[in-house]
Amino acid sequence: MKITIDSDSGFCFGVEKAIEIAEQHLENSGKLYSLGQIVHNEEEIERLERKGMVTIEHSKLNDSNDAKILLRAHGEPPETFKIAKEKKLKIIDATCPIVVRLQKRVKKAYDEMTPVDGQVALFGTKNHPETIGLAGQTEYTAIIIETPDEAEKIDTSRPLRLFAQTTKNKYEYKKLIEILKRKYAERNGLQDFIHYNTVCKLVSGRGEHLKKFCKENDAIIFISGKQSSNGKYLYGLCKSSNPNSYHISAPADLKKEWFKNAETVGISGATSTPKWLMENVAEKIRSIV
Ligand code: SF4
Repeated sequence: MKITIDSDSGFCFGVEKAIEIAEQHLENSGKLYSLGQIVHNEEEIERLERKGMVTIEHSKLNDSNDAKILLRAHGEPPETFKIAKEKKLKIIDATCPIVVRLQKRVKKAYDEMTPVDGQVALFGTKNHPETIGLAGQTEYTAIIIETPDEAEKIDTSRPLRLFAQTTKNKYEYKKLIEILKRKYAERNGLQDFIHYNTVCKLVSGRGEHLKKFCKENDAIIFISGKQSSNGKYLYGLCKSSNPNSYHISAPADLKKEWFKNAETVGISGATSTPKWLMENVAEKIRSIV
């Protein structure tokens, strides 16, 4: 049996960098607080916790005097920095530089829209930390649109600046842009609608590559944490391209019968799935077939 790990899968650049920063600090001091889960993957979190990382909720930030706090790749809203200053916390900012740039653009758009009674909208998942960080740049006035059919939330008589959370699906975003373009054109106000292409190019091409990879293998094992929205989306692509696809979060979830008629097995994962976990899964498959 030939087992291939998808070379295009695993941590995105931002998450990889945040973990690297966390590991450096853990090596130096042996203790670090991560504000929220550093990555939506239980195995990777456990690995870092064994090195001394502690994950804390935002509600605990106020009780964390003098601590060393890591801000993950998704970024934070301005009040996190305000609390950190008041509590004299040492911030280790591992926000992805692409997200930092996006936050600045959203803030600029908000400053431009406020005096002209305009709107800022974010195509994102409501409770996703990146979307919360972006909405914070607009004092939480930004309109959050989760799917293209929520376009009616926009008042087309007012100017609009539209951005997308970096991990949103680029085709869905395009659909939303087309609907809004039509609506603004009907009111003869296309100049009032400005949209920005902010879906991350480093991950948006993964879907097409994954579909091809799934068709090339007899069976697919897709690995991601249960909370990963990127994982759910990518696994959906696996299943539609190869019905013999299985979603697991750890090697223990594997079942021998999945490989009965398979000569080739492909292993892939979400942007939050570590490469070492994919290698462990490959090892486990070899031991059970
Ligand atoms: S998806 Fe792109 S923008 Fe978002 S954290 Fe990863 S590299 Fe950064």
